[in-house]
Amino acid sequence: MSSANGHGPNRSRMPVIFAGHGSPMNAVEDNPWSRGFASLRDFVPQPKAILVISAHWFVDGTLLTANTDPRTIHDFSGFPKALYEIEYAAPGKLDLARHVRKLIGEDRTALNSDWGLDHGAWSVLRWMYPEADVPVIQLSIDRNIDVRGHFEYARSLASLRDEGVLILSSGNAVHNLRDAFTRMRAGSSETPDWAQRFDEKVKDILMQRDSGALLSMWPDSNDGRLAHPTPDHWLPMIYAYGATDDDDHARFPSEGFDWGSISMRNAVFG
Ligand code: ZN
Repeated sequence: MSSANGHGPNRSRMPVIFAGHGSPMNAVEDNPWSRGFASLRDFVPQPKAILVISAHWFVDGTLLTANTDPRTIHDFSGFPKALYEIEYAAPGKLDLARHVRKLIGEDRTALNSDWGLDHGAWSVLRWMYPEADVPVIQLSIDRNIDVRGHFEYARSLASLRDEGVLILSSGNAVHNLRDAFTRMRAGSSETPDWAQRFDEKVKDILMQRDSGALLSMWPDSNDGRLAHPTPDHWLPMIYAYGATDDDDHARFPSEGFDWGSISMRNAVFG
């Protein structure tokens, strides 16, 4: 694994990463997706801490993990034993959780000691930072807030990038599990047109930095509702983009589909 070098126009500013995490199996398998997660490290200077926004902490409220030793949550069922044995023992960082509360607004946020690191976080981080020596906190996604509300929250996180904090948003640009399972049962890994279209449009819009278009992709379009029957895996994209500005350029170190209709697109903004 190579050492980190900043690539962005302002090297003191951390890039922002959107990771398409896909199947939990990517946490244990050596495959193109897990190798893609490992390579994300090459785009990032050594972070002081990591703030993860994961699709898998989609709850009532905007919460921040406040544990000194966050537990590894195995939030899936029916997978091989090896996956349940993974522990990602990164430390937490309470002062960062308190700081993020101030950025978003203390009246809108709360600390939480029940959650830890879910697989949206550790299935990517264990490849990027296998040493687990960088402190990690998670920010939940409030299921009661609309896309614009999340975008505003994300904008207030941007200053963390000047403080050595890596913002890592983990979801999928297209995520329709029902469609994916139907295809799997039928023995087909074909990517449907709507998935391809939506994924390409995401890429174009991120490159053009068209915020209005991005915010109206879900739930205002047919393809958007097919790509995301629920918004949990989409909203991390809004958080990633929301923490960027017009000095940032989007790059896509990995793209493609897994299980037919799960987009495995990663994006690095910097
Ligand atoms: Zn997921």
